[in-house]
Amino acid sequence: MTKSFYPPVRTLMGPGPSDVSPRVLGALARPTIGHLDPLFVDLMDDVKRLLQYVFQTDNALTIPISAPGSAGMEAAFVNLVSPGDTVIVCQNGVFGGRMKENVERCGATAVMVQDRWGDPVDPNKVSEAFKAHPEANLLAFVHAETSTGVRSDAQTLSQIAKQHGALVIADTVTALTGIDLQVDNWGIDVAYSGTQKCLSCVPGIAPITFSPAAVARIESRATKVQSWFLDMQLVMGYWGGNSKRAYHHTAPVNAMYALHEALLMVEEEGLEQAFARHQRHHNSLVAGLEAMGLAMAVAPEYRLPQLNSVLIPEGVDDAQVRKQLLEAFNLEIGAGLGELAGKQWRIGLMGYACNDVNVTRCLTALGAVLGR
Ligand SMILES: *Cc1c(COP(=O)(O)O)cnc(C)c1O
Repeated sequence: MTKSFYPPVRTLMGPGPSDVSPRVLGALARPTIGHLDPLFVDLMDDVKRLLQYVFQTDNALTIPISAPGSAGMEAAFVNLVSPGDTVIVCQNGVFGGRMKENVERCGATAVMVQDRWGDPVDPNKVSEAFKAHPEANLLAFVHAETSTGVRSDAQTLSQIAKQHGALVIADTVTALTGIDLQVDNWGIDVAYSGTQKCLSCVPGIAPITFSPAAVARIESRATKVQSWFLDMQLVMGYWGGNSKRAYHHTAPVNAMYALHEALLMVEEEGLEQAFARHQRHHNSLVAGLEAMGLAMAVAPEYRLPQLNSVLIPEGVDDAQVRKQLLEAFNLEIGAGLGELAGKQWRIGLMGYACNDVNVTRCLTALGAVLGR
């Protein structure tokens, strides 16, 4: 007979999911209640307020989408982009390529601004693209590129879009609660994220926020949003306002308990303290890796503390090292993605997994496997 599944206890130091705290796992096991139960409606209101806190926004339309980060990306594009639009899309890694795919599937044109994988988005190229395409009404970029470990300057990029009267979509899946992200102050119109990176919650939920200007664009659309499930005008009836909730879909009730608990943990620690913790442990990890003779792939000023790209030394078998780390040390680190496969490892220090024990564990394990 098939038996119940009991996974081993791994240490998750890859690009996500990250380690989930026992407190969050405990919340998942609480009794399921109805998704229109008045107590669940109260919980939804708490979750919205806590999401506003982590996104640093007053946007009323700040909600968790009941699907992974990729659905957050899709929700941003299908709601803001109409057929015939021109969108400037920045690509400096894997996720910018997915944005292009989303724009084109909306029947719009993507004007690509390309930068080397491992560099941030170049604001000058974005300005040039707006000059060459004055019809562009939207800019899209990835704040924290998980495929390369690079931070782009979200504030400067958003200001350029504003100067050209365009709205801004920022992918903040890996950024949220790991590095500073000021949705309102920086002028980001739509930011989406995922629960399994620095929030250290279970995968499968996509926090998202829409500015009043983004909501106005959605409300003035001439064509229906192509996706029924992700149409914000319909979702707003379920998650929005204080009025009675209209049934749209069944929220993943227990996963929402977990998100609520994970957000409480961020609020208790404080955002500033969380950013400082990520920076501190990143500094220790980098010092240790360099002492072992390993080299970082990204210039210091653009490095993400929560996602550390390391060059794989000549002659080292990438897959073999990761296999040994997993089997002998129960430690997961990330492989290179796309064109960086086999060339880099990605070591995550995300949320609950970002602590001194994990830094030491990772350095010890890698040192043992590499014989350094
Ligand atoms: C992980 C990630 C996504 C996709 O999130 P899923 O939850 O895997 O769908 C999108 N963008 C970035 C930058 C990511 O790191």
